[in-house]
Amino acid sequence: MDNSGLRGPVRGSRRPASGSIPGMTAPALSPLASLLDLLFPRTCGGCGAGPPGSGGWCPWCAESTAGPWSVGVPGAGRVAVAGRYRGPLRRAVLAYKERGRRDLAADLAGLLVAPLAVVLPVAAGRAPPRIRLVPVPSRPAAARARGGDHVLRLCRALEPRLAAAGLPASTAPLLALDRRARDSVGLDGAARAANLAAALYPAGRGRAGRGRRPPPDPGAPVVLVDDVVTTGATLRACRRALRGLGCEPVGSVLLADATTPGRKQ
Ligand SMILES: [Zn+2]
Repeated sequence: MDNSGLRGPVRGSRRPASGSIPGMTAPALSPLASLLDLLFPRTCGGCGAGPPGSGGWCPWCAESTAGPWSVGVPGAGRVAVAGRYRGPLRRAVLAYKERGRRDLAADLAGLLVAPLAVVLPVAAGRAPPRIRLVPVPSRPAAARARGGDHVLRLCRALEPRLAAAGLPASTAPLLALDRRARDSVGLDGAARAANLAAALYPAGRGRAGRGRRPPPDPGAPVVLVDDVVTTGATLRACRRALRGLGCEPVGSVLLADATTPGRKQ
């Protein structure tokens, strides 16, 4: 498979006012830009550039994400991200996830196309198989507070992006978290793993039905999708749960890498 057409956003167009791109010092969000985003949430999610209505991810921020690249996460298989969890990408992820910027779903999903090409097994001369995108589930309370499951929305926005790149894909929300799941912020890797092990179950069946029904389309490669990788505990737990369903994920794609602060590509 030729992966050259699987790049995310179009690169090369730089925002003239940003000064020197090589240093990638992102402009801070001004109070006015933040206010405008609240009133008319359509400026760039990364830097707040552009008048309201101008779109969710400007060329400058696309350039500054720098990915895709692979992340070494023990026990998590192949993992690829769009960029480091900092600067414009971090702001955009937080705006999308926590500040109601659902309009960023399509732009952020576009950033996952190139990481997906990194984790997919390449078979030259063969038609790409239909991919199953499995969103890492959100806690029910968090999803309610955010107006829906933000990773599930990201997966659905990724489908047409992949189709445009010649990769048919469908979203398969195979996993769910029950009410016992706590917010993982502040938990270390072991605590996150224990938290998830107690709360993950196959979606649509409840905990009693665990492992009893094979998933549909068992030959399709399964790719886990999430927003940020921190300790890798979530990816490992989801992989284990999918194996319990008879699925072996080929890899995981995420928007941002927060595993080792300060590390560069
Ligand atoms: Zn921007």
